[in-house]
Amino acid sequence: MLMVPGILSVFGVAFVCAWFIDKKRDYLLLLAGGCALFACGATSQIFGLPPGHGPNAVVSGALYTAAVLAVAEGVLLRSHQRLGWRLDVVVVCAITLALAWFFYIDRNLLVRIYIQNFGYGAILLVAALKLRSLVRGRLVDKALFWVLLAFALHFFPRTLLTVGLSAPVDRVAFANSVFWQALQLSLAVLGVGLAFAILAAAIADVIDDLRRERDFDPLTGVLNRRGFEDRVTMLMKNRCGTTSLALCDIDKFKSINDTYGHDVGDNVLREVGHLLRTSARKRDIVGRLGGEEFAVLLPDTDAREAHECAERLRAAIENGTPVTLDAVGPVTASFGVGSLGPKETWKGLYKRVDLLLYQAKRTGRNRTVADDLPSRIDRQTEVQS
Ligand code: GH3
Ligand code: MG
Ligand code: MG
Repeated sequence: MLMVPGILSVFGVAFVCAWFIDKKRDYLLLLAGGCALFACGATSQIFGLPPGHGPNAVVSGALYTAAVLAVAEGVLLRSHQRLGWRLDVVVVCAITLALAWFFYIDRNLLVRIYIQNFGYGAILLVAALKLRSLVRGRLVDKALFWVLLAFALHFFPRTLLTVGLSAPVDRVAFANSVFWQALQLSLAVLGVGLAFAILAAAIADVIDDLRRERDFDPLTGVLNRRGFEDRVTMLMKNRCGTTSLALCDIDKFKSINDTYGHDVGDNVLREVGHLLRTSARKRDIVGRLGGEEFAVLLPDTDAREAHECAERLRAAIENGTPVTLDAVGPVTASFGVGSLGPKETWKGLYKRVDLLLYQAKRTGRNRTVADDLPSRIDRQTEVQS
């Protein structure tokens, strides 16, 4: 009898522990609350607290309903969604009043069983449907969605098949009924499955966040040097087609810092990072290698295309009119661009392109210098000012 409250208490503690590890995940507290409320509801029902069939049915029903809503809100909050506390209050009140009605006014255990089971199935079904985009997510997200959907749906056939049209006649018959046994079993199996799926998703979220912190530059939102080089290593392993590299360095950035202050300099970096990200193609990889130097890796791109890409990025920065750049005046950047030779290493390409970037700086800035273009006249692009 105490199996379900026992299991739920263990998961409740697990959710609280997980929250202590990463306190910004408030949804874990909601789930812990759901477990605690459900365990209280089960304990109240099993031990007949408060005494008397009527108060017991109403109090345990209210606790179960609040528990199901807390679980639904918990899984929804993980995906930045919610049912809303007003709806929660309305649902708890409606189900509790209906249970009271069918005890005190029109005593009918069968209707009470259906209200609770179909009601809980419906709440969880709404949550599952709101989370249907998880089907396209990671494996843990898919698993969470399907377990939640199965948990929601099972309330309907289980109740119909185990209760049918006649409820157990008294308390002893109820405790020994197929309905009660099947309920305990399904809660133990599907409830535990759901709790595991949520914990697995929470762990995957933490790992993803740590990876993001490790690989991305918080100021500009593009990859940092480590993240960029990881992607380069991966691309070099599965090399197919020509890989090209564009290096970009903001012109006279030091004077922006000196004139307008470091904060404005940071905003310029942020906006240049944004421009590069939004102007690059989907398959291109953008990183900030340090200071005001960015790199764009161009997979499957030959020398001529790479030159065109770099020019497009350069023009996007020159013509971009982001808010903070308005104050600073036109911000420009110089580019070096080259393509990986058949036996060339990544380091070799980087050094070569860095020299081309240096050449772009030496020859007047706000320009792209490329190597090995098929038509040699394009070796250096003069920019019309
Ligand atoms: P050039 O046109 O030759 O590239 O000149 P530059 O002034 O852009 O180049 P320089 O290397 O002299 O200056 C780069 C400056 O970038 C110096 C450094 O203080 C600044 N810087 C590096 N990282 C950051 C950052 O995160 N935020 C801000 N605001 N400035 C940074
Ligand atoms: Mg610079
Ligand atoms: Mg520099």
